[in-house]
Amino acid sequence: MAGYFKNIIDGTMSLISGMIITNKVCWQKDITLQYPHQTIKMTPRYRGHIQLVKDPETGTHSCISCGMCQKGCPSGCITVKGEKREGVKGKVLVQYDLDFTTCSLCGQCVENCRPGAIEFSLEYNLASPRKEDYHFDLLKRVEEQK
Ligand code: SF4
Ligand code: SF4
Repeated sequence: MAGYFKNIIDGTMSLISGMIITNKVCWQKDITLQYPHQTIKMTPRYRGHIQLVKDPETGTHSCISCGMCQKGCPSGCITVKGEKREGVKGKVLVQYDLDFTTCSLCGQCVENCRPGAIEFSLEYNLASPRKEDYHFDLLKRVEEQK
């Protein structure tokens, strides 16, 4: 008989403590979002795929086509091409492609870039079953960026 009442008391205490926890959590600030309808802003130190930095003053990138990012990339996922143009000092960037399928986000390219022309983007919302969707034309992207 004593065991019967003990079980009832234990069950009631367990229910009360569960309800106290539930009530406490109910009033706490939400830490989850209704993804994909809501998305978070990533912290500045987040490493998304690399991108060319757009200089707000010139409205364009500052890549000098030196190829140091491409040379330093251990995964060989960067293709940079520049060409000489008449009347222009140095090379003009004509191609900057990234194959994000093999990028390890090591950061070597960003470190190698002396003019600071590339950075990690804050993009994390990438999901596709198609490999082609992870091949980025970074030159086109920076030109289209508002
Ligand atoms: S982060 Fe590393 S792997 Fe990715 S493109 Fe840069 S150097 Fe290559
Ligand atoms: S992004 Fe930087 S390292 Fe790469 S080619 Fe341009 S200037 Fe050189």
